[in-house]
Amino acid sequence: MNFKNTLEFAQQLDANDILHKYQEEFIFPQVNDKKVIYFTGNSLGLQPKRTKKYVDEVMDDWANLAVEGHFYAKKPWWDYHERFAEPLSKIVGALPSEVTVMNTLTVNLHLLMVSFYRPTKKRYKIICEEKAFPSDQYMFQSQVDFHGYKREDAIVEIKRRDGEHNIRLEDVLAKIEEVGEELALVLIGGVNYYTGQVFDMKTITAAGHKVGACVGWDLAHAAGNVKLQLHDWNVDFASWCSYKYMNSGPGNASGCFIHEKHHNDATLPRFAGWWGHNKERRFKMEQTFDPVHGADGWQISNIPILSLAPYLASVEMFDEIGMDALMQKRDSITSYLEFILHEIDKETDSTFEIITPANPTDRASQLSVLLHGEGRSLFDYLMKNGVITDWREPNVIRLAPAPLYTSYEDMYNFGQILKAGIMSKISV
Ligand SMILES: *Cc1c(COP(=O)(O)O)cnc(C)c1O
Repeated sequence: MNFKNTLEFAQQLDANDILHKYQEEFIFPQVNDKKVIYFTGNSLGLQPKRTKKYVDEVMDDWANLAVEGHFYAKKPWWDYHERFAEPLSKIVGALPSEVTVMNTLTVNLHLLMVSFYRPTKKRYKIICEEKAFPSDQYMFQSQVDFHGYKREDAIVEIKRRDGEHNIRLEDVLAKIEEVGEELALVLIGGVNYYTGQVFDMKTITAAGHKVGACVGWDLAHAAGNVKLQLHDWNVDFASWCSYKYMNSGPGNASGCFIHEKHHNDATLPRFAGWWGHNKERRFKMEQTFDPVHGADGWQISNIPILSLAPYLASVEMFDEIGMDALMQKRDSITSYLEFILHEIDKETDSTFEIITPANPTDRASQLSVLLHGEGRSLFDYLMKNGVITDWREPNVIRLAPAPLYTSYEDMYNFGQILKAGIMSKISV
């Protein structure tokens, strides 16, 4: 499409956008008495208005029923998590029995590594991406420490080539091949948090399996943002947080995927707790653990209902919209933002650079912009003028136009604010 950097054009795109009405479903913070242009849905999604109802329902049931709420709440608490199976499985491309919700992301990855990182003398290495999200790096280090391996030896990072911002697929595949029989696990962020690069999860998963390794994905930036087919791609396991693109609220519960092929494998170790125990017999307080079939069998503690209620509101909203419509808007609005950035770059003769892949199949909702020179003051200008972005050292701002609640008009307005910021002698 031939885009134009005009208000009329942006408004026309909004008028043709079937998801435009969802902007009304979200609560926007205000700056200077105007709703902000929100680019940090990749960090904490906005609050959907309908969420409060889901939380209030739990609060009311708790007030009125207390312990009886476990069985007699409007949505009984003891199996509340089962309501996620259908809608969430569609979001991540899984069978309903392959997904569950529990804990938080890093905790879940650790728990899944109990099952899927079982190093042996010969096969003990983990492949991850260079500059993985810090929590993942700490997780890898503590896992290999725990198993008694040396970090320098056991953790193999896939590097970017000199002068490049993104990791090449061919380099991932070559590294997998090279580590070969020593490779126990490939665990990478499906979408890189810093650059927004989307990895070819299908191809990488197949390559890992070919050398005999397990393959898992950290989907923090992918869940609700990328079309996933975890079952068909034969991914062993995955986990994601729900508070980024899925708008469930700060620190709220995570989701997990465990491929069906592992459900009947009694040799897989796992850390157990009563919520993973046989559903019919859970309250018989038996001594021997008998796991629920499927991903629910990895549950441990009784589930945090107040954390799940907002997540359920979100999952139901995604289900109502469908991933295909969301992906279409995502690509279109991200391309429009990219166009606006290039236009402003030309008009102001500045020197910023988009480090996110230009090819739409290698990216999702996020554009990371590298500001050469004095970037921080431009970032401050944007924040003061109602554009919420985030700053990543050394000089990157990340812009994520979450397709559920950002409009094309927002993109146009952002361009104008950016231009004013650059023109007001803030050197970029
Ligand atoms: C956001 C994010 C996390 C956060 O982990 P929590 O355990 O939810 O705090 C982990 N990994 C990646 C790649 C992330 O982007």
